[in-house]
Parts: sequence; C-alpha cells; structure tokens
Amino acid sequence: MRQVIIRKTKYDYGTLRPAFFGIMDSLGGESIVRGSRVVIKPNLLAPAPPEKAIVTHPLVVRAAAEYVLERGAFPVISDSPAMGSFEKILMESGIREALDGLPVEYREFRDSAQVAAGHPFSTLSIARDALNADTLINLPKLKTHAQMVLTLGVKNLFGCVVGLSKPEWHFRTGVDKDMFARLLVEIYRAVKPSFTVLDGVLAMEGQGPGRSGTPRELGVLMGSRDAVALDEAVCRMLGMEPGELPTCRAAREAGLAAEEISVDGEAPAVSGFKFPLAGSVVFGPKWMHGTLRRHFVQRPESDAAACAMCGECWKYCPAKAIRRKDKSGAKEKQKLEFDYDKCIRCYCCVEVCPHGALKAADTLPGRLLRKLTGR
Ligand code: SF4
Ligand code: SF4
Repeated sequence: MRQVIIRKTKYDYGTLRPAFFGIMDSLGGESIVRGSRVVIKPNLLAPAPPEKAIVTHPLVVRAAAEYVLERGAFPVISDSPAMGSFEKILMESGIREALDGLPVEYREFRDSAQVAAGHPFSTLSIARDALNADTLINLPKLKTHAQMVLTLGVKNLFGCVVGLSKPEWHFRTGVDKDMFARLLVEIYRAVKPSFTVLDGVLAMEGQGPGRSGTPRELGVLMGSRDAVALDEAVCRMLGMEPGELPTCRAAREAGLAAEEISVDGEAPAVSGFKFPLAGSVVFGPKWMHGTLRRHFVQRPESDAAACAMCGECWKYCPAKAIRRKDKSGAKEKQKLEFDYDKCIRCYCCVEVCPHGALKAADTLPGRLLRKLTGR
C-alpha cells in the first residue's frame, strides 16, 4: 500500500516545523535518515522571492535541513537550476538567510553519470550527487506548468538533469508531452527519492511555472515515499483525474501506480483551481503533426512592454526558435521573433523569462477548436 500524509499548515515556522517533522516520522524518516548523507532537492527554478511561489519556500527547506541534522545526518542542498546562478537563487529565494547558522552544504549538481533507461531512451545522464546520495529528500513546489499541466514530485526531479542537458532533452522529446512524461518517469526511477514532501502552502495556478503563474494559497504540505502516489493525491485534491496528468499516466503505463493509496490526513477543499490552458493538442496521423502544431497548439508570445531584451529566452530555447529583430537599433525598437515551425512548444522560454514577459497563447484556430471540443 502506498502511503500519502497530508498536513495543513502555513509559513509560520512554529506550525510548519512540527508538520514537516510529523510527515517525515510517519514515513519512517527517523531510521532511514539517521547517520546518512542526505541530498535535499528543492525546486530552485530561477531567482525569485518566496511570495512569487516559483521556488520551494525557504522555511520548508529549513525544516528539511533541521530534520536531517537532528538525526545525526549531513544535509546537502542541491539542484541544477534552469536559469540564473545557483548562488543567486539561494539568495533571492531567502534560503541562504533561512538556513543561516545551520551546518549545511550547498552544492549545485554539475557532474553527471550515465544510467540505463527504458525504451526509447536507453541511457540518461543524471547528476552523480543525486545518484550517490544515501537518502534523497525531494521538495517540489505545487505549481501549474504550461506544457505538463502541473509540476509536482516526479517532474521536480528533472532538476537532476544537469545544465544544458535539460533543453537538449526537451528538443529530443519534441512536442510530444507523453514522451517527455516517460522521460520524467525514467529519471524518477533512476533517482529513486527516499521521500517527497511537497510545498503546497503557497502554490501556483494559471500559466505557471514561472512568473506568468499566479500564487494561490492552499495551506498544505503533503509527503510520501512514493512521488507517483503523492502526485496522484495532489491531482485528486485539485479536482483532476490523475490519468489526465501526463506524468501520472506515464507512471501508470510503467507499472508504478498499481497499488492502492492510503491517505493519512485531510486535504483542504480546493475549488476552482486554475489549470493552464491545455498545451499540446496534437492529434491525427503523424504526417499532419507539423501543420496541426503550427495552427492549433498554443505558441509562446511576448509582451513587448514587459520584455527587457535580457536574452534568457533565446539563450535557453532548445530549438533555437527565438531571435531578436533589429539587433543594432535602440532597445525600444527591438523585438522578439519566433520561428513557429522550429518551435517545439516546450514553453521553456515562458518558464525562464525573469520578467514574466512571455506566455503560452492560443492561436485563433486553436481557440475555435477548444470551444468546439470543450478542452
Ligand atoms: S521575453 Fe523575457 S527572457 Fe526573453 S528577452 Fe524578453 S525579458 Fe528576456
Ligand atoms: S520558442 Fe519557447 S516554446 Fe518554442 S522551442 Fe523555444 S523555448 Fe520552447
């Protein structure tokens, strides 16, 4: 039986700490963590303050570090951010400050090792520190995701793919989000986190997971030794069938969701949670996918007034589908141009834009199709 623990709480350390410790103890943390080398893997997507709900809250990271220290173990905080420097994220997120005085190590994932993976991937390069940890505590943030609908426990482990291998994988899996979900499940299987504790106190709804999303207070921490079970429980809390989430679907197909789930604790009642508009609506025979993608699938669009021409999006874009028009002119005259034939609709650009200047927008035929199909 897969176990999920739910505790309502807020970002008040007097309440959050016992909630976090209670979840870990209920999951057997006391004996598993004791004396081990522990990697704590928060969501450190980009430099952002806690109120934006983009990264795991510093108090959740602090509770994890204290839990580990109090069991005579050694905590290392690690991730490989999509954008911005690791150090800058630790500062802007408030994690450095919240953990001040605790004997923890901060170590960005840099070095990878090859692991065997199922068809069609054959091998994957995963952060060596994540693979070698005695215990890995996965600390995802509950957020929406324009391509994958939600980013929860399984998706958070994509951060164990180091640096530029991330856009490379986006490019290799292309517009097929089920293929990307299969990749994420393979990463989950390789990393095998010992615990996943999700920060859903201040979650994100709408067009996440970056600055285009909207923070939404849900007041909950959820933990499990099984990230798939946890993701399924989150879907149910938000009023969504787990089978609608690509990563849960892929986990089910991989035989990782066969057992029943036992839930300890009551999830908060969540009504009207805003999911991102459905991303890739590619259907029909393969030879038509290019045309369908061009005309029906949401495409990234920029808001010229908010864009600071910082270049993060075109540097990160795995398909090299973004360019700056009028490179030499005054900044006000410069504009982003998207090559929608090259664009694989991964929405990484939306995710990494530090100014919230990009969004995934419907095309006109896509809007009509959505009205007709109700998707
Ligand atoms: S859209 Fe965002 S990431 Fe791209 S150049 Fe403008 S501000 Fe930078
Ligand atoms: S333009 Fe944006 S959505 Fe398209 S491939 Fe590049 S990063 Fe992905």
